Amino acid sequence: MDEESADVFLPSRERCFERLRLARFGETVTCVHCGSDEVVKRGTTGKDAQQYWCKDCETYFNDLTDTIFGQHRFELEEMFYIVKEMRSELTAQIARDLDRDYEAVLDFVHEVQKASGDIDEFELSEVCEADEVYVTAGEKGLEDEDESPRERGLKKRDAETSRETNHQS
Ligand SMILES: [Zn+2]
Repeated sequence: MDEESADVFLPSRERCFERLRLARFGETVTCVHCGSDEVVKRGTTGKDAQQYWCKDCETYFNDLTDTIFGQHRFELEEMFYIVKEMRSELTAQIARDLDRDYEAVLDFVHEVQKASGDIDEFELSEVCEADEVYVTAGEKGLEDEDESPRERGLKKRDAETSRETNHQS
């Protein structure tokens, strides 16, 4: 791992899924194909999404099915990071932060921009920027409230993007 990507703050994958699930399904998971609530959990996908089996239409689906998160190689927390940062950060910088291919990040950014016009189930940026997703990500390390993950993220950004002059406030 190189130094630049080592201190990038990513939320926990589990919290991202929780948040996504809540935004998509609310309290009750319903089938994305037929709308039935006769749905049972059936393991997880390779990306750690919860997989479900619909007893009515006898089809599998998972947390990411039919969302823009479904077709990418990125991990969910990386996609949350991109959605959160893309409004204030250059795509090239995000790609460096994540140590990911610039083209791949750019593709995803374009898709988010395209999708945000016609997503009506939930507001993408709201989901990805939800405080509880980010705040709890510090829990596996220190429980130091003076230096929250969010603050660290901001500090890092101040330090690294001083060449950019977006200081309107
Ligand atoms: Zn179904």
